[in-house]
Amino acid sequence: MHLTPIPAFTDNYIWALHDGQRALVVDPGESDGVTQWLAKEGLRLDTILITHHHPDHTGGVASLREATGARVIGPARERMPEPLLRVSAGDEVQALGLRFEVLEVPGHTAGHIAFYAADFEGTPLLFCGDTLFSGGCGRLFEGTPAQMLDSLTRLAALPDNTRVCCTHEYTLSNLRFAMAVEPHNADLAAYQLRCQAQRAQNFPTLPSSIGLEKRINPFLRTDQAEVVRTAQARSPGQPTDAVTVFATLREWKNVF
Ligand SMILES: [Zn+2]
Ligand SMILES: [Zn+2]
Repeated sequence: MHLTPIPAFTDNYIWALHDGQRALVVDPGESDGVTQWLAKEGLRLDTILITHHHPDHTGGVASLREATGARVIGPARERMPEPLLRVSAGDEVQALGLRFEVLEVPGHTAGHIAFYAADFEGTPLLFCGDTLFSGGCGRLFEGTPAQMLDSLTRLAALPDNTRVCCTHEYTLSNLRFAMAVEPHNADLAAYQLRCQAQRAQNFPTLPSSIGLEKRINPFLRTDQAEVVRTAQARSPGQPTDAVTVFATLREWKNVF
């Protein structure tokens, strides 16, 4: 089984899996790159997974469905290009011999879902759309800080070796912000150097892992003393609970 990110637009990745014959893609915001990849690898598109309704995640669905007959699986509670199989928390999706569990992770959008496979060739695999990024998280377009923090906390509880397939290459800009939040985090500084080297050669920084994100992503670290201190300095007099710290960081990142 092969896992690969197909670049799209300026900074999207359309994550793709194949077993040598059949393929699965996640959040195809456009179809051209996927169509070329299928032809080059000699694959038949079997399944399209969708995490949320934004056009940069759904724009290629209709033409790919029409061209390939692939089945489309997406969130129960979002406006979606029909027809599709709608799934929600606890549902299971079988594709290419893998079993994905559907997680509901509201915050970026109200009905955002993620797909989690506990066993992808011995390692867990997560397609999390625009909820968790390496070093950051999605903007709160439709949800509250409390909702998003709850969603991220449930993702952070997945096994440390879970491969995290995010939909955007936002890592370097996220890490600049993360360094402003936690200037004394040595893991973060080392990771930033590694990612700068990868991007200098135009390599993806993804997938990440849950274990790594717990060490470097400020949005998963709202209980750390330095993160709390930075949030307090940014917004003096505010409470130090996780939701308030998270909200302060998220608002600051919007203007960083
Ligand atoms: Zn989005
Ligand atoms: Zn997006």
